[in-house]
Amino acid sequence: MSNSALHTLRRDFGGALIEPGADAYPAASRSALAEGSPAFVLRPGTVDDVRAGVRFAAATGLFLSVRGGGHGFAGFATNDGGIVLDLGGLADVTVIDAERHLVRVGGGATWGRVADALAPHGLALSSGDTREVGVGGLTLSGGIGWKVRKYGLTLDSMVAAEVVTAAGEFVRASATEHPELFWALRGGGGNVGIVTAFEFAAHRTTDVFHGALTFPAAQASAVLQGWAEHLRTAPEELTSLVEFANPFAGGPEAPVEVKVAFDGDDPERAAAAIDPVRRLGTVLHDDVALKPYADTLASAPTPPPGIRLLTRSAFVAKESVADVLRLLAETGASQGSPFLAVRAVGGAVSRVPAEATAYAHRQAELLVLTTSIGPEPALAAARPALDAVWGRLAPHTTGAYANFLAGTAEDDVAAVYPAGTYERLAAVKRAYDPGNLFTGNHNVRP
Ligand SMILES: Cc1cc2nc3c(=O)[nH]c(=O)nc-3n(C[C@H](O)[C@H](O)[C@H](O)COP(=O)(O)OP(=O)(O)OC[C@H]3O[C@@H](n4cnc5c(N)ncnc54)[C@H](O)[C@@H]3O)c2cc1C
Repeated sequence: MSNSALHTLRRDFGGALIEPGADAYPAASRSALAEGSPAFVLRPGTVDDVRAGVRFAAATGLFLSVRGGGHGFAGFATNDGGIVLDLGGLADVTVIDAERHLVRVGGGATWGRVADALAPHGLALSSGDTREVGVGGLTLSGGIGWKVRKYGLTLDSMVAAEVVTAAGEFVRASATEHPELFWALRGGGGNVGIVTAFEFAAHRTTDVFHGALTFPAAQASAVLQGWAEHLRTAPEELTSLVEFANPFAGGPEAPVEVKVAFDGDDPERAAAAIDPVRRLGTVLHDDVALKPYADTLASAPTPPPGIRLLTRSAFVAKESVADVLRLLAETGASQGSPFLAVRAVGGAVSRVPAEATAYAHRQAELLVLTTSIGPEPALAAARPALDAVWGRLAPHTTGAYANFLAGTAEDDVAAVYPAGTYERLAAVKRAYDPGNLFTGNHNVRP
């Protein structure tokens, strides 16, 4: 690495530059889910700092990781020996047009901060379900949260983005400004630029009915099938997911948890939407209650060093739902099952035309997710059983959701981006990042 690149960085970069040995380094070097030993962690305070960081990365040729909230399962937010550009200092949330519900959110903000900042305005964005997760990573690859069936993916609410390109230029992307870049930002992950700020059209929110209904593990099959059937005709205000075989709550014996969120505060309409779920089996516990939307977001503790989370996901089309749910119920009942979750998508997600954004899996009815947790050797030992589960699911599922995918191999990228999407993304990449500076993502090659 040339000294002049570092000299230029020190001259142009006004943020915090953290190197090995600094007090702040141990915490700054790791992301929430991965450890690393980068040579430099840069914490920009301004867009010009981001531009200086990008120019530094290009000049040195060091591997660049861009960190939003640092909660990516694939661990893209850190590296060994390279540069981490940590956007955590760019986290302001501002209502810029109250009448049109337009909000501007810094590229390093987290969803807890967004929910808290929008609540006093009676506004919310459909995000994910966790406070600490970053706006950057979640939005750029999708965003499946508690209002997804009513308002679509988080990226469907994006109306513009302020972007630093690989050349260090600052551009605004929207339907009318750099429209192909705007298309690629909505699903293409961090491939095509660094978003320093998002502009979203937020939604009016009231308090919402939210909570979990638990059923005995033995009723998993009937509950799952009935749940999926109900979601087909339920009002789109109802968003729901099922979690089971939870290793922290007793593995195969763990109760089946159906989590529900009804986007509205009318108790009768909420009951009409949720009661059919209550009738699916023996309700062991029901904590569904009216609460502020911000309170639906959970807090996720950072796992201790050495503990890995291995996630894998796939989409399920309507005709395969029954088969997949049957296979999942069988898997959940076996020893050594990974943590299983199924999310209902559809609704507003499926009404957006397939070619409108780089998120390709619009027509899926469900998203299946497995999570294995433990130290590396335990995960390696569990790998054959996990592969067997996915081998059985494979004939009935398609694609993968980038945000729930720990794998980074070429097959994983192909699962996220079908050929047509990949080719169009590659064309945008050639225009905005021809040297593939932004590689720390499910990478599309220019
Ligand atoms: C506890 C937990 C709960 C979750 N719940 C949900 C959920 O309910 N719904 C859902 O859809 N997903 C959920 N996710 C998945 C989540 O969307 C992804 O992990 C997402 O990638 C996290 O984004 P991040 O910015 O925190 O991560 P990071 O690791 O910082 O970033 C992930 C990727 O995005 C890129 N990136 C981040 N910010 C920017 C930016 N501003 N500009 C350019 N590139 C950027 C990074 O370079 C990296 O490639 C959850 C994850 C966890 C750990």
